[in-house]
Amino acid sequence: MNDPSPRTLGRSALEWLDQLQKPTIIRVAGRDRSRTRAMATLLHGNEPSGLLALHRWLLEQHTPAVNMLFLLGGIYPAKIPPTLSWRQLPDGRDLNRCFKEPFEGEEGAIARAMLVELHNAKPECLLDVHNTSGSGPAFAVSITNDAAHQALTSLFTDRLIITDLRLGALMEYSEQEVPTVTIECGGSQDEQAHELAYEGLVRYCSRPDVLSLEKADWDVTVLRNPIRVELAPEATIEYRLEPTGHADLTFPPDIEHRNFGIVSPDEPLGWVGKKGLGILTAIGHNRKENMTQVLQVRDGKIYPAQALRTFMITTNPVIAKSDCLFYAVKATGEPFFDAKRSGGSSRTSVLRELICDSRCGRWIYQY
Ligand SMILES: [Zn+2]
Repeated sequence: MNDPSPRTLGRSALEWLDQLQKPTIIRVAGRDRSRTRAMATLLHGNEPSGLLALHRWLLEQHTPAVNMLFLLGGIYPAKIPPTLSWRQLPDGRDLNRCFKEPFEGEEGAIARAMLVELHNAKPECLLDVHNTSGSGPAFAVSITNDAAHQALTSLFTDRLIITDLRLGALMEYSEQEVPTVTIECGGSQDEQAHELAYEGLVRYCSRPDVLSLEKADWDVTVLRNPIRVELAPEATIEYRLEPTGHADLTFPPDIEHRNFGIVSPDEPLGWVGKKGLGILTAIGHNRKENMTQVLQVRDGKIYPAQALRTFMITTNPVIAKSDCLFYAVKATGEPFFDAKRSGGSSRTSVLRELICDSRCGRWIYQY
């Protein structure tokens, strides 16, 4: 679609989605026609914030500072009833794992077509807008940490997670040509996340320069290669103000408030049972155990072994048991281990978004 008029957009984002029949490119001409910025969204069909923001922005008929190229990837899964509930097609692949050779299958073809569009448009930067399944504050993910990536992040949030993980996500491939940041707006059901996506999009489209840090609204906190704290599969967990003595691990019900906060070594996070810390593992991107650097127990209470910044804490016991309790970095934002010094593999998990696999019902993290 080129410069779509309100008549072609439906009265609501859902009506517009109803009209869209396949992955769609939208171009909007800007004041400066010599430059282009790109934004991909809906790569996952159940993450609507980017689509809602784009629809609202298009209806308002803004003239952007530069040409805009929007790419709506996951139209097929998004349209399966109930609308906007499927991450990917029931028998399909995760589109945001398909931006790498050999571009197999339908998702591979969509990914390759999107990359061709990006290559032809030669944008000065690219955003990929997502939602997390659980609630929580927004953050950005990138594989590069420099002024341009921090400036792009600051349009939406003040937290940037740098990952050495490579999965075939759009942000990895497009980095070859253009600064790229993935934006996790917050929960897919959160009105706040939709509003943030819209406000960030307005900033992204209207500013003459989005790649210089001195124009940024916030100081960006950079977090590198967080570790995952996991609970043993056979262990039990409860969320209570005080332990009952029946669970291996007890967290207070408001533990989610620790998301992105700093926890000092004298602040208890929760309680362990008779098995102590043996029920927990701390796994870095190099797959090494680092529990002694992360947590310790005093009088049955769990304390950080050093000042930690914790995030993506879950209060869902199913998720806590099947996947991960929370992620953490040192309060300074530095990783527990240096990937280069330890020769760590980049294939293991670092930070991924929580999703429920609709086929098997299992909770898994993916960005
Ligand atoms: Zn996503």
